[in-house]
Amino acid sequence: MHKRTSAAPEFSGTLESFDPATDELVGKVREAAPEDVEEHVRIAWKGFEEWSARLLDQRKRVLAGLSPLILAQAEDIAALITREMGKPYAEAFTAELEPTLDLIAYYVRKAHKFLDPQPVRLQNPMFWRRRNVNRLEPMGVLAIITPWNWPFLIPMGQIVPALLAGNAVVFKPSEHTPLVGARIRSLLLEAGVPEAAFQVVHGFGEAGKALVGSSVSKVFFTGSTRVGELVMQQAARDLKRVVLELGGNDPAIVCADADLENASSGILWGGFNNCGQNCNGVERVYVHESVIEPFLQRFLAKVGKLRLGRGMEPNVDIGPLANLAQFEKTQKIVREALGGGAELLAGGKPVPELGPLFFQPTVLKWPSTQAEPEGEEIFGPVVFVTPFATKEEALRAANRSKYGLTASLWTQDMRKAEEFIQGLDAGTVLINDCVVSFGFPEAAWTGWKKSGVGWVHGEKGLDEMVRFKFATYEPQSHSQKFWWFPYGPSTMEGMRAAMQFLFARSPWQRLKAVPATLKHLGSYLLFNRPHREKL
Ligand code: NDP
Repeated sequence: MHKRTSAAPEFSGTLESFDPATDELVGKVREAAPEDVEEHVRIAWKGFEEWSARLLDQRKRVLAGLSPLILAQAEDIAALITREMGKPYAEAFTAELEPTLDLIAYYVRKAHKFLDPQPVRLQNPMFWRRRNVNRLEPMGVLAIITPWNWPFLIPMGQIVPALLAGNAVVFKPSEHTPLVGARIRSLLLEAGVPEAAFQVVHGFGEAGKALVGSSVSKVFFTGSTRVGELVMQQAARDLKRVVLELGGNDPAIVCADADLENASSGILWGGFNNCGQNCNGVERVYVHESVIEPFLQRFLAKVGKLRLGRGMEPNVDIGPLANLAQFEKTQKIVREALGGGAELLAGGKPVPELGPLFFQPTVLKWPSTQAEPEGEEIFGPVVFVTPFATKEEALRAANRSKYGLTASLWTQDMRKAEEFIQGLDAGTVLINDCVVSFGFPEAAWTGWKKSGVGWVHGEKGLDEMVRFKFATYEPQSHSQKFWWFPYGPSTMEGMRAAMQFLFARSPWQRLKAVPATLKHLGSYLLFNRPHREKL
């Protein structure tokens, strides 16, 4: 009953995966001992030599080959996701497979634009002969450590650009979704990624820790803020780079002019899809006091219609929590909120007749933003609703959290939306929608404050996976530069005149500096010879 325990068991060499809806064994994988992790990394470094030597077009072709495989195996992959972590089968399509296909298409299409050497034009006319480029080179072996809540989209969103850029990858899936991790491996190998260049280590936190401490070039960690802080501390010991995508406690603000029918449906989905287990799920809803009653009327009626059940059954909206730790945490959050003065408006209880990890979609209300304590991430089917009176109060409440991942705003007034966007401390702000933007491959994803460090997705996400190397070419190898030794009065006079010519504000002053510039630097600028012989 691995899913029933919250503590990691002793190393056994085998990692078992259980269905959170039924507690049935779904399958097993070979567990890597923490001391074996470096060996995987060593193999990946070998793989890197071969993979990075291939042309970008060749790597692109291999990765483009993933899409037909995913399309052909879609039902099977979706069922595995649902069985391993409980989300409804339909959600495995909408939130995992389709956005992954979109992401592959995006990076494959943009490969040359993002990865070809980028010309850099120098504005300074003293360097007019030069050609300059930023070269984007692979970093080596990247560690990709991911959670269980989106076990397919999150890893693929990092693995695909990492490999496209020529890196090798050592991937550590969550202990709760090792079979989806293994499936990702088989898809990549089937598409033609060399085995050595894509290594998977299955295991618990200790395996992740060993990977962070190994000879990888950079760590991409997606998970809780608590573990993210440990990863950053560990990586800092040898100045290893990290990208951290961490927790959230995301607010939604419903303005007085919002379309309440739409806002209540959107927030219902944003709070309860994936059983609320989303870093960017809606956890706190601030509703203008003038519309809180009609909003709640609609919202609670819709909460009452949500259908709980096993994800593989049709017509199910919410599955079980994915593991015991989440289930216990959800219970604790509800208990503490009730003890702290929140009012229970819906749910609040487990549903043991469905299975041990089912919990009712729960709505709690704080009487005011002053009464609401600064919350921890919930990561379960619980939404708090609180009234507000002014824009300033809504922003203050929304920004009080230590997290800053996403925020959503519900209004019909786009001018007002701009003011809120500017005021919200969040990496992403969504207007009249929520959650969905993680599935936009073009949208660079980051968390502010304790929600993260660095980027994934978009061009910025790819930039995190390459080393920039600036190369500057002086085409004439015999060209002696006027700023080389020996210095003399003409060096200084020439520079003084050139500074006036280049940077003075008045055109007259610039014009006046032309003769002295030409006198001292003209032979270099025009004929590529310094004014005096250089050493
Ligand atoms: P954890 O932080 O517990 O684990 C994340 C991954 O790190 C797992 O693979 C885990 O392995 C591994 N790990 C555990 N300990 C260590 C360690 N010391 N060193 C290195 N790796 C380690 O998070 P969860 O899996 O519970 O995922 C939920 C969290 O992820 C939530 O906080 C959520 O907000 C966040 N998240 C953030 C996203 C974002 O983009 N900002 C997206 C999705 C989720 P194991 O599973 O074996 O413990």
